[in-house]
Amino acid sequence: MSKKNAWVMKALHELPLAMKAKAMKHFLQGNKKYMKKGIQADMDAIIKCATCPNMCKFDCPVLEAEKNEALSPAGKARIAYFLENGLLDSDYAREIMYACSSCEACKEHCPFDFSVADILRGMRRDMVMEGKVPERVAELKNELLEKHVMGERNFSGDGKGSVIYFAGCVVNNERKEIGEAMIKIFENVGEKYAIMEEEWCCGYPLYNMGFMEEFKEFAIRNARKFNESGAEKIVCSCPTCAHVFTNIYPEMGIRIKPEIVHSSSYILHLIREGKISLEENKMSVVYHDPCTLARKLEVDDARNVIKSIPGIELREAMLHGKETRCCGNGGQMARIHESISIKMAEKRKEDLKEIMADAVVSACPSCKTALMEGRFYDLAELVVESMIK
Ligand code: SF4
Ligand code: SF4
Repeated sequence: MSKKNAWVMKALHELPLAMKAKAMKHFLQGNKKYMKKGIQADMDAIIKCATCPNMCKFDCPVLEAEKNEALSPAGKARIAYFLENGLLDSDYAREIMYACSSCEACKEHCPFDFSVADILRGMRRDMVMEGKVPERVAELKNELLEKHVMGERNFSGDGKGSVIYFAGCVVNNERKEIGEAMIKIFENVGEKYAIMEEEWCCGYPLYNMGFMEEFKEFAIRNARKFNESGAEKIVCSCPTCAHVFTNIYPEMGIRIKPEIVHSSSYILHLIREGKISLEENKMSVVYHDPCTLARKLEVDDARNVIKSIPGIELREAMLHGKETRCCGNGGQMARIHESISIKMAEKRKEDLKEIMADAVVSACPSCKTALMEGRFYDLAELVVESMIK
């Protein structure tokens, strides 16, 4: 048994005999009495999480921002239970089902290894089936189905090259400077790179909001385009796109032939191969770990890139690596629960300011949008600034 599960056994062991018997009886009867059939939500996980004493709540950035127990991890599971069983029927409760940035901080501490984001996603699928999603969620879905990207599409090419640069919606729409920095890197090292003729969103917002049929349509189309391109590699600036292509498409039986890499890993590889030479850049930086890169992809290459720049002093935030704190922009929070998302970003900015570094560096376009203040670099921009051209 893992260390983090030990408390459950210890707590059970210390119970008086009568209570032990009662707990066991409830546990054994759980499946029969409380399990609703024919739904996509995982009722077993919802019940376990709803009855948990909120073991992970101190790490939930949404609860920290809102100070409202209903938005705590177990609070959301309890509301999911009530909604799923028809004991509650309110728009506010359904909006709460989307008050999660999918950061998976809860999973880091959960004795059951639950991610409340996963639990809520099942719940959202049922809400989609019932046609009961919040208005804002339906609008976002419609925008994606109509335009195939969130916002505007500013990067396009002929899609023919050994490396495809997948900019992602945030770079395309809000963070063009990151795409421009990546292009400078490709050109500096003589890479035969290409941008898709008409890049579609990776589909994550649809997946996360519960629109599985629509997500599948995006996934099948993207995979077909990638596989037909003949490219060997796809480089993503956005950790979420890289996570979706690496982990979620295969879970649905959709295979992408080219290798998927996040830009931080691609850049580190170029440095190690001697294709990028870096000159002195004297400053101190604090690195903000994007949740998806650190927790879902478990990639830590950005730190090694920063460390290879001569003259840079890398400082660490108190919450870093897998213990990072969400920027507030994950899980469509900025579009569905904007005010919570802003409070979450403010909290993370405070963490980063405490370090008193000259600049902040991250490796995710969404994190840059949420946290940008003072000198803020995406890793690609820092590398371009430090590169011997
Ligand atoms: S995610 Fe795990 S630790 Fe957090 S409330 Fe649910 S069951 Fe408890
Ligand atoms: S995934 Fe993050 S935001 Fe969502 S419940 Fe867990 S800790 Fe809170």
